[in-house]
Amino acid sequence: MQGTSYIEISRSAYRKNLKFMRSQVGEKPILSAVIKGNAYGHGIENMVKIAEEAGIRHFSTYSADEAYRAYKACKKESQIMIMGMATDEQLDWVIENGIDIFMFESDRLEKAIDIAKNKGKKARIHIEVETGFNRTGFDWDHREALSAILRANLDYLSLEGLCTHYAGAESIGNYVRVHRQIEKYHQFKNYFSEQGLPFSIYHTACSAAALSYPETIMDMVRIGIALYGFWPSQETYLGKYKDLKAYPGNNPLQRLLSWKSQVMSIKHVKRGEFIGYGTSFMAPRDMTIALVPVGYCHGFSRKLSNLGKVLVQGKILTVVGTVTMNSIAVDATDLKHIERGEPVVIIGKQKKQELTVASFGESSNQVNYELLTRLPLDIERRIVP
Ligand SMILES: *Cc1c(COP(=O)(O)O)cnc(C)c1O
Repeated sequence: MQGTSYIEISRSAYRKNLKFMRSQVGEKPILSAVIKGNAYGHGIENMVKIAEEAGIRHFSTYSADEAYRAYKACKKESQIMIMGMATDEQLDWVIENGIDIFMFESDRLEKAIDIAKNKGKKARIHIEVETGFNRTGFDWDHREALSAILRANLDYLSLEGLCTHYAGAESIGNYVRVHRQIEKYHQFKNYFSEQGLPFSIYHTACSAAALSYPETIMDMVRIGIALYGFWPSQETYLGKYKDLKAYPGNNPLQRLLSWKSQVMSIKHVKRGEFIGYGTSFMAPRDMTIALVPVGYCHGFSRKLSNLGKVLVQGKILTVVGTVTMNSIAVDATDLKHIERGEPVVIIGKQKKQELTVASFGESSNQVNYELLTRLPLDIERRIVP
């Protein structure tokens, strides 16, 4: 049954973002679409479909359960890669089904070798090296032991990739740290080459690295946020600004996602009355209030009480009173006329106005990642042209 709101996902916006990112990384590198975090809130199954229609054949997930969903949704020829979590039990499924997986510690590597031996099937691995992010990755001091294990088990391992991840390529403040990481990565790369361990592909870049540090673009790039139409940060955008004049609004990236609902009910409130729970909002004039059936249980934060905005009739209306579990009240006093059932936009465009994901939260791009992935799974996602 139809819910109280729904999320639209635009196919054409995705194609535009992909085209732009392709122009940035060049024709050669594999472009892996990162679909962790339920595809940044868009829905893994939706995004696999949209991405494959646009020509993508490589997907990166964080965990095995995400990989499983992508595997069920994708074409046979598409490759899936797990960058983070898989339990030992899941590793069996991973190897059985030819899923690529990051290796960042000996325990997992040994387990993978065991499973591969038993199955008579090579494990497709990407060695993740520690270059300074200090989350996951084999340490430099571990290189000899690692290289010995790899060389001894080439019958069971397919060395798909050598990779690392940057610690904040979206901020110029991390410039020195990122550069040290690039250097360290090349030390690892050279070391393994000297050891006669050639990996099929070398990859390090996320969206921000691909946009701001072209030297990080190698055989593959792992692109998340930019394909969903967001700049990794304001800095990344400004760093590119002079190259963006040709694009409408100086911005080649278009958000895929819109969040929509409708007016549930309308009420007239006399001046001096309080609206909603408690006393946080007193009507300063006779007011018309529209109830919208979206609340904090749908991801519309209580912090947006007396603050949040929605669009009705192409006009920005402000939340009055507290955000409740299932609904908000917005001030519709200045509209000439408003009716039950009228479309409401919570994120997205209506006529000439637009509410961005950032304006829905705070005014910083940095929170896009978090806001997107916090949109509840059970709000219906609809793919639109
Ligand atoms: C999330 C992630 C990416 C993609 O990052 P974006 O900033 O969304 O492009 C790439 N690589 C790894 C290892 C990641 O975890």
